[in-house]
Amino acid sequence: MGPDFADEGGAELSDFIRVRGARQNNLKNIDVDIPKNKLVVLSGVSGSGKSSLAFDTVFSEAQRQLLETFSAFARRTLPKYERPDVDSLEGLSTAIVIDQKRLGQTSRSTVGTYTEAWTLLRLLFARCGKPQGAYPATFFSFNHPAGMCHPCKGLGRQVEVDVDRVIDWNKTVREGGVRHPDFKVGGAYYKRLLTAGLYDVDVPIGELSKRELDELLHAEKRRLENHDATRYFNITTEGVVRTIERRWLNREDTDNEWAGLRKEFFTAAPCSQCEGTRLNARARTVTVAGKTITDMAALEVRALPPLLQQVGGPLAAPVVHRILERVGALVRVGAGYLSLSRATATLSGGESQRLKMARQLGCELEGLIYVLDEPTIGLHPHDVGMLLDMLKGMRDKGNTVLVVEHDPAVLSGADWVIDLGPGAGEAGGEIVFSGFVDKLVETTGVTASWLQDREGKIPPQRRAVDKTFPIVNAQLNNLCDLSVEIPLERLVCVTGVAGSGKSSLITGEFVKRHGSCTVVDQSPVSRSRRSNPATFSGAFTPIRELFAKVHGVKPGHFSFNSGGACPECKGMGIKEVEMRFLDAVRIVCPECKGRRYDSTVLQHLTKGKSIADLVEMSITDACSLLESVDSKGAISRFLQPLLDVGLGYLRLGQPLSTVSGGEAQRLKLARELAKRGQTYVLDEPTTGLHMADIDNLVGVFHRLVDAGNSVIVIEHNLDVIREADWVIDLGPGAGQDGGRVVVQGTPEAVSECSESITGRYLRDVLQVPLVPPVLPRRPC
Ligand code: ADP
Ligand code: ADP
Ligand code: ZN
Ligand code: ZN
Repeated sequence: MGPDFADEGGAELSDFIRVRGARQNNLKNIDVDIPKNKLVVLSGVSGSGKSSLAFDTVFSEAQRQLLETFSAFARRTLPKYERPDVDSLEGLSTAIVIDQKRLGQTSRSTVGTYTEAWTLLRLLFARCGKPQGAYPATFFSFNHPAGMCHPCKGLGRQVEVDVDRVIDWNKTVREGGVRHPDFKVGGAYYKRLLTAGLYDVDVPIGELSKRELDELLHAEKRRLENHDATRYFNITTEGVVRTIERRWLNREDTDNEWAGLRKEFFTAAPCSQCEGTRLNARARTVTVAGKTITDMAALEVRALPPLLQQVGGPLAAPVVHRILERVGALVRVGAGYLSLSRATATLSGGESQRLKMARQLGCELEGLIYVLDEPTIGLHPHDVGMLLDMLKGMRDKGNTVLVVEHDPAVLSGADWVIDLGPGAGEAGGEIVFSGFVDKLVETTGVTASWLQDREGKIPPQRRAVDKTFPIVNAQLNNLCDLSVEIPLERLVCVTGVAGSGKSSLITGEFVKRHGSCTVVDQSPVSRSRRSNPATFSGAFTPIRELFAKVHGVKPGHFSFNSGGACPECKGMGIKEVEMRFLDAVRIVCPECKGRRYDSTVLQHLTKGKSIADLVEMSITDACSLLESVDSKGAISRFLQPLLDVGLGYLRLGQPLSTVSGGEAQRLKLARELAKRGQTYVLDEPTTGLHMADIDNLVGVFHRLVDAGNSVIVIEHNLDVIREADWVIDLGPGAGQDGGRVVVQGTPEAVSECSESITGRYLRDVLQVPLVPPVLPRRPC
């Protein structure tokens, strides 16, 4: 549908990004005009095609066009963007994605280094530090030999090989008593230990003499002259601990498996020399405004302005001004409770995204296209207003801001809405509405009708609290010696503004103390193209058995991971083609056309479909197709839970490497539905869910609780909070202003607490019928 703006002040809307014939993923050959220099929200149920339009089409093509302008040589080092499936896209400019991918996992990146505030702070100390002196800025750098604490090399932590994990003291070296995989029995390092002749390899390691043990664990690398009856030869010897340090300590964690192994065999403690501040003692004697640079970096950034404003003088003023700009941006994105010294590797996805946003606020370029994915994640309703102002600020600098978002407050604050749908997957991919926000409510789409129906909802019956799990004197991060009883076998919501301590209390203290919780998080289920909802849920086995029974062949025949695989691509559906001077290119397998199966397999039809046809179908469609042949419910037993968590729109064979974090979380949740007596912990499970899908999810929580499970959810979404049996509201603020229980009780009780910010918002939802959040307004 093209926009009709003849009577809508069209003069301001002369400029559009014109999308014609978009067919990426589930998009149905759509045409849409996206107004430039506006705040545009893409809405629609999960899986309707919002990301396919915003990220996979608009951003991807903008990026590709930009890369085309670089030389072939430069392009080699840059990521590849395939041309999206679209006829034409006009009016693009440079696009920037602000997503929730975690920021660099390297231990050297901090909030301060990322925002450059740290660099500026160093400059300030170099210029104005007391005692007066001409300090070079490197004097305060933990990445530079002049400033770093040497024992920990500026990491702030001392990482050591954990000998008790590496060594099985009851085993001999020959039996594999050195447990680290580098020394696996039969391998080269293992053989070297056996031939060294410096310790007895046939007594348990725990019984070696001190000298032998030192030799085995800590000896410097050296060559040994050695001989047996027939010949002389040289071997190298090196203590096990030294080998592991040399091979693992400074390796960048580019790979999850490596990172896991590193964690397993190393322990990390704050460096005793610098107490985790990363800087050497000299650098920590210099002060500005009575504080050392590490004191300042440890403060919450919102505490810096009053301190820095005391620093006067012509040398200081311009630097202070620039630091305050950076700090102001952090405060405005709701990250004022973070400190400059906080390692970015410890930030959540939402916090990482807000940091990226803060960095963009300082960007002077205009005419950019920003693409954001659910920026309200992790934000309390209270902080959403502030976020909206920021998005408008980005727009007012002359940029186009495209936001994929479900939050009604953001929706109502947008200039323009593009509603995708009407359903998900195959049932979606069309433009339901594209136009000024105030016109959306007049349409019949899911988004519009949900906005209208919301006021009719009545809070449910609450279950009374019975059993509880006590947490006594919790102190992790900002928790103030907090003691609280967490109700069991109930639906519990933990609420509070971002940084108030919800994760510290629940995914930190509760999970650790309780011991047997199932944390259902948003980490990827699998990065492999070989797993999909059918294999993950367990339904693929009975499906293959069904095909096998009907056609009298082995079930393996119907697996693209074994007997039925296309011989050309081995069941991957794609092939990598080596290019002489460029990187390998992935192409759809010419033999099976991406269907992954050997052609003979495709001749076996069940209910008119081949196995490849079947995995192309959505879970919902596959369920209804197979219903009549799935007599014992062998298949639906596995697929029904996927429908229950609202994932019916996924294709049975969709590679799990392509599902979002929210979808991954719901896939994991689906696998848990049949269990009893479990304790589930979920962190913002509504992420990626349209308002209309949230009812579904809440239904799943109630079913889990009715079946005797405990469900503990960290949530901001008021439609979830009001359904809880018990709410624990943390706060009142973030960081040092948080870490306490402000109020707990039923949602009604919380809504009556005047100190609780959550209560204030709950009051609107519970008592007063909700005013539809979309207010009639004219654009700009
Ligand atoms: P939304 O952003 O509205 O939640 P998406 O654009 O992510 O929806 O997805 C639209 C449809 O396309 C869904 O059915 C989804 O499963 C499918 N899809 C998304 N990404 C891919 C991909 N990389 N490959 C194949 N299908 C995909
Ligand atoms: P919430 O879950 O309510 O957003 P968190 O529990 O993540 O809050 O954070 C509470 C406080 O603890 C914040 O000040 C945050 O910066 C701090 N914090 C959280 N994780 C870490 C960590 N790994 N290292 C240091 N401080 C942390
Ligand atoms: Zn140190
Ligand atoms: Zn193939």
